[in-house]
Amino acid sequence: TIGMIAMDKDGHMAAGTSTNGLSHKVPGRVGDSPIIGAGAYADSSAGAAAATGDGDIMMRFLPSYLAVELMRNGADPSAACKSAISRIKRHYSDFFGAIICANTTGHYGAACNKVPTLTEFHYMVADSESDTAVLKSVPCF
Ligand code: ASP
Repeated sequence: TIGMIAMDKDGHMAAGTSTNGLSHKVPGRVGDSPIIGAGAYADSSAGAAAATGDGDIMMRFLPSYLAVELMRNGADPSAACKSAISRIKRHYSDFFGAIICANTTGHYGAACNKVPTLTEFHYMVADSESDTAVLKSVPCF
C-alpha cells in the first residue's frame, strides 16, 4: 500500500491509499485500502491516518478511524497510531501492519507491529518549510 495524508494551507485534511493488494488474493477481494476508516480516514477537525499491512485482519478494527478519533480526543499522533496498532495486536499478536497519523496542527507519527519481517517502519514527510521530503522511521513495538 502507498498511504498518504495531506493538509492544505487552510487546514483541510485528506488521506488516501493505493494498493496492489495481497499476494495470491482471491479474485474480487477488496481489502482494507479502499474502505473508509480501515485503509484511510481524514477529518479536518481532528486529523488523518492511513494504514498498510495485512488488510484482511486490519480492516476488522478500522484502525484509521480509531486513530483519528483518538486524536480528536487529544492523543498525539504517535500515541494514536500506537493505540490503533495495539487494538489489533491484542487479537492478532503477529499481524503485519503499520499506520501513519497526523493531526490538525501538523504533528505526525507512525507505529507498526513488530514481527521478524518488520522491525522498523519508514515514511516520508514534506512541509512548506522544506523543498525536499525527509525520510523518517519509527521502531515497531
Ligand atoms: N493493506 C493492503 C491489502 O491488504 C496490502 C498492503 O498494505 O500492502 O490489500
